Amino acid sequence: MTDSPSRVAIVTGAGRGIGSAIATRLASDGFAVALADLDEAAVKTAAEAITADGGRAIGVGVDVSDSEAVDAAVATVADELGAPTVLVNNAGITRDNLLFKMTESDWDSVMNVHLRGSFLMSRAAQKYMTQQNWGRIVNLSSTSALGNRGQANYAAAKAGLQGFTKTLAIELGKFGVTVNAIAPGFIETDMTAATAERLGVPFEEFKKAAAAEIPVRRVGKPSDIANVVSFLVSDEASFVSGQVIYVAGGPKA
Ligand code: NAP
Repeated sequence: MTDSPSRVAIVTGAGRGIGSAIATRLASDGFAVALADLDEAAVKTAAEAITADGGRAIGVGVDVSDSEAVDAAVATVADELGAPTVLVNNAGITRDNLLFKMTESDWDSVMNVHLRGSFLMSRAAQKYMTQQNWGRIVNLSSTSALGNRGQANYAAAKAGLQGFTKTLAIELGKFGVTVNAIAPGFIETDMTAATAERLGVPFEEFKKAAAAEIPVRRVGKPSDIANVVSFLVSDEASFVSGQVIYVAGGPKA
């Protein structure tokens, strides 16, 4: 990086898994990074590790589905690091069940974190992006958007994020803000480990079976997603907007 002040990125759900890998990657790309998560202790520790490695980072506790908490968290980032012009909406949960067993709470919880959370975070951050005439939003969709047994709530939310992405791209493009979605396939994290546990299959066996179905014959790693985020938030990606990029070891879409 040059001596110019680094751009500021917010990564939600950065306490572990894909979000943690994205935050670390953006810090090594030269961004000042705010790691935002329900688990404030985890992100504060992760931010300290980035700082110890020579980066600039803070950890912020936030529930992305709570509008007051979101507005406060984004304002804290602006005060402590500067105007956030990169936002990665990564926070996510699963509450899987077949439709006849899915509760209203399973449905609402998933909608609240993925859809309401991405909406609230994007609404709070866009004002800094439009003021600076530069911004990047990346939303985490999923191959489940195409349909996945036991995930009516999650698939609906991840498909909804694709429409949200395309609409924000249309609205914010004239302000130099691009908005894209990444739709990961199987990535090895606590989330997929929890799915294996729910199905009663040892995680190693679950990964092996998944890899056999994936054209490149392996499951994904959080860094596979972080690599694509790194490109999408770069200056070089300024003509890429409103896209859904499947990062799944094969076409999937
Ligand atoms: P993960 O390991 O379960 O991590 C999710 C993170 O989001 C956790 O740190 C969690 O915090 C945080 N979070 C949950 N609810 C939140 C809220 N209301 N406010 C703030 N933070 C919240 O998941 P992952 O596998 O890394 O997935 C990251 C994203 O990629 C998700 O959007 C997921 O749907 C998507 N994705 C994952 C896969 C996959 O195969 N892993 C595939 C496609 C898409 P706590 O630790 O406090 O709960």
